[in-house]
Amino acid sequence: MGKINESGSAYICPMHASIRQASPGKCPKCGMALVPGNGRFALLRHMAGNWRHLAIMGVIMVAVMAAAMMMTVR
Ligand SMILES: [Zn+2]
Repeated sequence: MGKINESGSAYICPMHASIRQASPGKCPKCGMALVPGNGRFALLRHMAGNWRHLAIMGVIMVAVMAAAMMMTVR
């Protein structure tokens, strides 16, 4: 696995951890603009700026919670 140093700048798609480029661009998987930075801060900025990702996360969370409830209520 490639390790980047904390201070090194890279453009990433937080939705897809495998997408990482040295220059700005778009994620080939979801088409959203790559964000500069690293780790959770970049994720927060990405999420705040892209309602689509926010909506997707919401749907996933609801689905997971519903599934968990159905699993436990047996
Ligand atoms: Zn993506």
